[in-house]
Amino acid sequence: MVRTSQASTFSSSPYFFDRGSHGTAQPITERVAPHSRPIVSYYYPKGVGAHHYGERHPMKPHRLTLTNALVMGYGLDRQIQNIYDVRSATQAELEAYHDHEYIDFLSRVTPQTQSDMRQMIDTFNCGEDCPIFADLYDFCRMYTGASLAGARKLSAGTTDIAINWSGGLHHAKRGEASGFCYVNDIVLAILELLRYHPRVLYIDIDIHHGDGVELAFYQSNRVMTVSFHKYTGEFFPGTGKLDDNGHGLGKHFCLNVPLQDGIDDEMYLSVFKTVIEDTITAFRPTSIVLQCGADSLGCDRLGAFNLSIAAHGECVNFVRKFNLPMLVVGGGGYTIKNVSRCWTYETSVLVGAVIPNELPATVYDAFFKDSQFKLHPPLTGKVDNQNSAASLQRITVSIRNKLRYLQGAPSVAMQEIPPDIQGFLEDEERTIEEREEEISTAMAGDQRFEDIPARNDYYDGWKDNDPVEIMVPTTPVVFARGRAPSTRRGRAGRPRGRGRGRGRPLYRDDDDDDDDDDNDSISAPRKSRKPKSRGRGRAKPVSVAASVDRESLKDPGPGSSPEKDSSGFNTPDPYAFLDDLED
Ligand SMILES: [Zn+2]
Repeated sequence: MVRTSQASTFSSSPYFFDRGSHGTAQPITERVAPHSRPIVSYYYPKGVGAHHYGERHPMKPHRLTLTNALVMGYGLDRQIQNIYDVRSATQAELEAYHDHEYIDFLSRVTPQTQSDMRQMIDTFNCGEDCPIFADLYDFCRMYTGASLAGARKLSAGTTDIAINWSGGLHHAKRGEASGFCYVNDIVLAILELLRYHPRVLYIDIDIHHGDGVELAFYQSNRVMTVSFHKYTGEFFPGTGKLDDNGHGLGKHFCLNVPLQDGIDDEMYLSVFKTVIEDTITAFRPTSIVLQCGADSLGCDRLGAFNLSIAAHGECVNFVRKFNLPMLVVGGGGYTIKNVSRCWTYETSVLVGAVIPNELPATVYDAFFKDSQFKLHPPLTGKVDNQNSAASLQRITVSIRNKLRYLQGAPSVAMQEIPPDIQGFLEDEERTIEEREEEISTAMAGDQRFEDIPARNDYYDGWKDNDPVEIMVPTTPVVFARGRAPSTRRGRAGRPRGRGRGRGRPLYRDDDDDDDDDDNDSISAPRKSRKPKSRGRGRAKPVSVAASVDRESLKDPGPGSSPEKDSSGFNTPDPYAFLDDLED
């Protein structure tokens, strides 16, 4: 079924037309004064929303198109300092974390070839939750390219906040797909941040456990992961219990906040703010990656919480107020009219703009008609709240106790240390040419559109002949600390046999009540998969794109020292922790 709204293009329709009694939002026309607010960069890979997982699949990239239409419709593009189309990630960039065989498979498999590749499809956990669809690999490269570009810009210090709603695919593993996720753009972006940032805090408010990111950094003390999710042991992915707190050097650097069905705004915000404030105080991150999965909203097709868009956005606002460099990505979210509203509202929160409750008119009005074109429709109260004040207090007290282990932990670099990659530079002589290339490293992943397009010709403003060639980073790919690329699969850093990864299918098709674009049919419930006990990939990039601007290292910031800090944590090599994973 094709919606009527698809018959016309976004750019062919006026943004603001009379909707009678519903009124219309007024576009924001003032430009923000430079420096008065954080610099916000917004990444939208052109065409990313046109991909399609399949008729009955709940993951709809079209939600990205809706989000973008609302963001532009509200005139938020006038509040955002930088809007980027972005080059897609390269295969080498994906293999900074993922196994070569897996990426090679993704690059080759198509709906036409999948019958010949059935065994590999099973090996790499594709097929059901993670179907093979047209241009799958391009889709992965697009959303990952945007997260990497955002991370680079944050590392370069040329933006304060980077937004990529197309990213946030937190379930993907090193060597296999999981839960609608193929490539883990978050892990790759964090690896990029670690080249400059001593400590990265990852926060995940998707209703599902952020297992892929947790797993990647489970043994690292430089990345602290905090996931708020529904946990029953049965609910996908089946992991994320309160006492899963990291391993080895990473012990205590992983927090899980297991919640039950129906949690409301007040309870969620209370536990979120308490845990995040305590975590930031204890861990002192130098940058934050925030995954804003919108399936934690009330009325989500796959979710079971009762959060309003305002409360979801308040989590974003709370994190923003710590004024740390922040990469904000999307994630889950399966009632797409609410996903797009939520991420639009959160864009406004991040740029510090107040937007009216009346949605702007777009060609996608049909999605919002039943809720009177409101940005904040009532979403709460649909599911009984199984949480209690006492159960939540037990969680926050337990987490506060866990965070005590962080205070003074000898492995944590608590000083502000210049996050350089001197260790890499010592390993190799760079030519002048290479060094010149390095200067543009931080900008290599994106292309600034100097002329922000008018709202009603948004796509016309994207330069179709955008200079992809010059955007491709020519930075050398070197192997971390002299290692050759390994093709072995990662090892599980946890006890075996606890059913990592494929615990449950992410969705069942038998509760199909969605309002989405083309999916109103009902199919049989999905089979649940057997938990897999074989080793899951830990983050040990076999190769890293090691390029850096030496000049940028000259001013490492106040209080910095390139030497070891008093704790003995040697920071110049951002990948040092990876060696600890070898043994
Ligand atoms: Zn989710």
